[in-house]
Amino acid sequence: MLSCAEFRFQVGAEPRKQTVQQILHGIGCPSCLRYLIAMRNLERVLLKAFSVDPPSEHLSSGGSRLGTKASDPSHHSSDKSQK
Ligand SMILES: [Zn+2]
Repeated sequence: MLSCAEFRFQVGAEPRKQTVQQILHGIGCPSCLRYLIAMRNLERVLLKAFSVDPPSEHLSSGGSRLGTKASDPSHHSSDKSQK
C-alpha cells in the first residue's frame, strides 16, 4: 500500500499514468483521490496554456512507433555507384 506522500509524489510526477497501487490508494483515501483529479485537470490546463500538442496516447500504450522510416536511403545511393 502506498502512503499518501508516495501517492502524491507519483501523481505529481506523472498525473496521466495511474498504477494499480495508486488506484487502490485512491479508493481508500478520498483526499488523495481529489488530489489526483486536481492534478489531472491542472495538467490539462497547463498543456493548453503552453500549447503543447495534446497527448495522443491516453493511458500507457507502450509506445509503438511504427512508420518513422518512410523513405529508404539505400535505394538512392546504390544508383550512382553502378556506373
Ligand atoms: Zn492518501
